Amino acid sequence: MTTAATRHVPVRTCAGCGRKAPQGELLRFRAQDGELVTGAGPGRGVYTCRRLSCFERAADRRAFARTLRRTVRVDRELSRLYTGRS
Ligand SMILES: [Zn+2]
Repeated sequence: MTTAATRHVPVRTCAGCGRKAPQGELLRFRAQDGELVTGAGPGRGVYTCRRLSCFERAADRRAFARTLRRTVRVDRELSRLYTGRS
């Protein structure tokens, strides 16, 4: 369904469930000093859906480290990004 009216939207894959979604629907993480941090920044990124279950699944499966190709510590406090509480 490629038409001239279709704007190009970068598609990324959730590290938790494997769902592909427009980048804007997903949360981005990256490695910084060996820690998983959220937000834009240099280097490889890893994405999850905005669902806590996807974050937990990705953390349990070490999908963050695998996707980033480096060892990262996953702070479970990051889960508050998904619950809306801070
Ligand atoms: Zn997901």
